[in-house]
Amino acid sequence: MTDCLFCKIAAHDIPADVVFEDDAVIAFNDIAPQAPVHILIIPKAHIASANELDDGHAHIVGRLALRAQALAEERGIAEPGYRLIVNCNRQGGQTVYHLHMHLLGGRQLGGLG
Ligand code: AMP
Ligand code: ZN
Repeated sequence: MTDCLFCKIAAHDIPADVVFEDDAVIAFNDIAPQAPVHILIIPKAHIASANELDDGHAHIVGRLALRAQALAEERGIAEPGYRLIVNCNRQGGQTVYHLHMHLLGGRQLGGLG
């Protein structure tokens, strides 16, 4: 999608602090980190939100989760623990309408707000 911030990051049209990339997934540090580790893991293909997922996306959702697991291991937060978040739409706190998984860790995280 042409007017999507994360599509532009996936296409390297806008710079980001990329920590992983393969054919289908790109991960980069959040610009406003909420924890010592705060990485966004996104599909390269545009999916606006979790509401748009269907059976055809099962594989890419699995790839996002497995990449989050691998990055958590790499950053040393697998054992102490971490949080994976997918915000959906307004009341879920979604601000960028390209599906993304937040990987948060490196400090004690509080209860969900
Ligand atoms: P959400 O509120 O779940 O839609 O999350 C969007 C996230 O994208 C927020 O945590 C923002 O800090 C982050 N963000 C926005 N613009 C950028 C950017 N250019 N590079 C990296 N992260 C960004
Ligand atoms: Zn997009």
